[in-house]
Parts: sequence; C-alpha cells; structure tokens
Amino acid sequence: TDAESCDLPELVKLLVLVNPHSGSGKAMEVFENDVKVMLKEADVQYKVIKTEYAGHATELMKTLRLSEWYGVLIVSGDGLLFEVVNGLMNRNDWIEAMETNLGIVPGGSGNALCCSINYAAGESFRKDFVLHSTFVLVKHKVLPMDLVVVETKGSRLYSFLSVTWGIISDIDYESEKYRNLLGGARFTVGAIKRIASLRHYKGRVSFLPVTKYIPKCQRLKGRAFSVGQLRSFTLTHSEGRRYANSQIGSLSMPESMCNGNSSEPGRVNSENNDVFHECGVNSNDSILSINDAESGCYPAFSDDDDDEIVREIMTAVKQPDSPVPSPLLPALNEPLPDSWVVLEGEFVTVCAVYQTHLGDDLLASPQSRINDGVIHLMVVRKGISKNNLLKLFLEFENGSHVDSPYVELVPVLAFRIEPESSKGNIMVDGEQVPVAPIQGQVLPGLAKIMAI
Ligand code: ADP
Ligand code: MG
Repeated sequence: TDAESCDLPELVKLLVLVNPHSGSGKAMEVFENDVKVMLKEADVQYKVIKTEYAGHATELMKTLRLSEWYGVLIVSGDGLLFEVVNGLMNRNDWIEAMETNLGIVPGGSGNALCCSINYAAGESFRKDFVLHSTFVLVKHKVLPMDLVVVETKGSRLYSFLSVTWGIISDIDYESEKYRNLLGGARFTVGAIKRIASLRHYKGRVSFLPVTKYIPKCQRLKGRAFSVGQLRSFTLTHSEGRRYANSQIGSLSMPESMCNGNSSEPGRVNSENNDVFHECGVNSNDSILSINDAESGCYPAFSDDDDDEIVREIMTAVKQPDSPVPSPLLPALNEPLPDSWVVLEGEFVTVCAVYQTHLGDDLLASPQSRINDGVIHLMVVRKGISKNNLLKLFLEFENGSHVDSPYVELVPVLAFRIEPESSKGNIMVDGEQVPVAPIQGQVLPGLAKIMAI
C-alpha cells in the first residue's frame, strides 16, 4: 500500500503550531477544546507554540531539531503549512527535514488541504470538520505528498496546493475581505462579482504533459496529427479511464494501429466520423507522440514508464547539495524545450492544481491524488459566455466542470505561465505573488503528510 507506516511509533511527540490570527481567530480554541482531548486519548505527547508573527513558523522550522519530533501539527489554514514546508525546504539538510511528518487541523478560513485529505480519507469536511481531521491524524498513517517547486521573479517557493491566475485567483484575493463575514460563501459572492465584470488575460501557457494523456475528443476536432511508426500501446483518457486497444472515449482505433504491426500511419476516427486523428509511437516503443500542428507535440509514455519517470525526477532532484535542483525547468528567462506544449492567447483562468480541493465548495481537480506525481493544469480560454461561466462555477462544487467543453484539464509534470501584463493576481497556495512569469515542476512524494 501507499501507507508508509501503520504501526504506532514508540514516541509520538508532536510540535503543535497554532496561529492565533488565522480564520476568525479561533485556532487556539479549536486546539484547546477539540484537538487536545483526542491527542491525549491517543497517547500523543505534544508541545504547543503560538505563532507570534507571520514568518515565525518558517523561522522555527529552520532550526527545528529533527530527531526530537515525530511530526509538526499545524492548527491554522493552508498559509501556516506553507510557511512550515518552505522553512523545512530551505534547510541545508532538506532531504532529512522533509522526512518530518506534517499534519494539519483546520483552524483557518482557507483549509483546502484539510478538505482534500478528508475527501481522500472518506471523512466529512463540512460537518464536524475539526473532529474528522483530528481523527485522520491520530490514525498515524503517513503518506508521501507531492510538492511543486515554483519559481517566480526573485523567489523559489515550495507549494502543496495550487498556482492560480485569472478569475480564480482574482476571486480568491478579492473576496479575502469577506472571509469572516461569509465563510465559504465568499467564493460564490466573489465569483458573481467577477463574472459580471469579466476580464480576460493575455499570455502564454506552456506545459510538459504527463504521458498518459490524450486530450478530450471535442477539443481535437478539426485538427490533424502527424505520425510516426506504430507499436502497441495503452492510452489513458484525461479522466483516468484506460483504453488498451479498441476505444478512446467516443473514438475508435482500427486493429492495425493497435496490434503493433502496422507500418502505416494510424488513424483514430470518432464514431460519428467528424473527428480525424493520427497517432503514432516513436521508434522508441514506449513513447506515444501525438503531434498537433497547432499547439506542438504531446509526448506520451506508457503506464509502466510512470514509476520510472518519478524515480528519475527524484534522483535528479535529490542531489546532496542545496538548493533543490529542478531538472525539468530551464531558467525562467530561457526558452523551453520542444517537448513542451505552448498555448498562446487570452484566458479566463489558468490553474495548476495538485490537490482535489481548493476550498470546501471547490472540487477543482477530482482526479488529483496526494501523491500521484502529477500537476493538473486547468485552463479556461476566452470564449465562454458569462452564463456558461456561472454554470461552470456551480459545477465546481461537485467536480462536474471537468466534463465541460470549456475546461481543459491536462496532467503535466511542469508548467510555465507568462502573463502579458501585470494586471490581476497570481496566487501560490492562496498566498499572493507578483504577476510575472512563473513556472513550476512536480517533486513527487517529497513531503510526508499524516493522512488517510
Ligand atoms: P487563514 O486560512 O485564516 O488564512 P493561514 O494559516 O493561512 O490562515 O494564516 C494566515 C496568515 O497568517 C499566514 O500568511 C501566516 O503567515 C500568518 N501568521 C501566522 N502567525 C501569525 C501571527 N501570529 N500574526 C499574524 N499573522 C500570522
Ligand atoms: Mg491562508
């Protein structure tokens, strides 16, 4: 299984960080009234520190004596965990530091990671949120969690949740002020306001796709793909369904393309015959490439290669010297390799998401897993009407937006967003960063989180 350890460790000593300024200022109450009892019941020893200023948790992590603690528990929102992760990642001994088990109980107003963890664990995150989160915590199961190294103007950040640009980040930022007043509804109110005066953002979005991806049928309409030699392969639809030979969604492949003995270019035809594609596998058997004349090349690897890719990335990342190498990313001002796909134009939003939830009413990326080694890049381009955008926001709540023809959701290993102007907002894990070129790559399973 994925769980690293299910046995009770001998000494469970947690450092508990409580942010008295998070949410409506109730984090200490949450800890005293709800969490403490359960930790005692579970024989967990702990020491509580109340953070004194923004940045305090980062400082504490820089000098934490790793051997003394089983883990660090955050009672706050995503912001305090962000501080902790960045503190640990900026140590010279970051490889060991990242073995520290991290836990989080919702004490803030933005608790997207807690929602995602509880969702994965089958626990509620609406009713008795704190209780359910603490329950997950005291089960002592630890999972690896993907991080994303994010590079932007002058800084390098380590993110566990999302990078957002466009309407999503605008709403997140602008509706901050309604937090205490409206709670979760702040997003809905903010969305209505932003849709009414809809903006579009010009720029370039580039990504290195994960292989097991074929874009949605309707999006391929009218495009032709160049081809290579064919071998047998498996395609995985963007929603995770796998099609070995005969079918890809509403598309079907002829025998000759699938049985591996065709030297002719393969074709994929839709059932209603209005979609026409050609796919090919490079001379290297495992690589499927779908070349799109308009937007470049989607390289693809077979499923068996995925573990290999993760191993390769992590071997390249975990070099003994500090800081963390990011092998998939060229310098921010340098051109990208040909294997990247480039989208140019105007966007309503571009979000890189690596957890299921961005909020308790925002199931942004239902197919995300805590350690799938994948960034889910969600793109909504200009062209969607205000009505349809409103509908889309309602669909976010249960994740059904993934079926919308206006939403492109691509599993990627790395991305770069280059806004043309500095208007609007870019947020990393809900924290504002400059609106400027920004790029990121996944660091598969680098953190350890108490979950499930
Ligand atoms: P919320 O979900 O309510 O936003 P967060 O955990 O995200 O809660 O915390 C919000 C911000 O508070 C974070 O950016 C964090 O750095 C900052 N912070 C932490 N401790 C303090 C403190 N003692 N005083 C003021 N700000 C703090
Ligand atoms: Mg926050």
